[in-house]
Amino acid sequence: MVEKNECPYLKSCPLFQFFKLEVSKKLYITNYCQGQFDKCERKKLKDIGKTVPDKLLPNGKHLQ
Ligand code: SF4
Repeated sequence: MVEKNECPYLKSCPLFQFFKLEVSKKLYITNYCQGQFDKCERKKLKDIGKTVPDKLLPNGKHLQ
């Protein structure tokens, strides 16, 4: 069963392979992917068929 309050892209989102700290990754997942995923800048681009930069963060900044 698909979790209702989870971003449909979570299982395949390429962003998370770049995180060195598990704690930062968990924060984004809790706040966006399993929370307000409609506010995620990655999801907004993907939903309209645009290319999503690999290191774009849900808040619109880029992972260093
Ligand atoms: S980072 Fe954005 S697009 Fe990726 S799974 Fe989380 S909410 Fe979805």
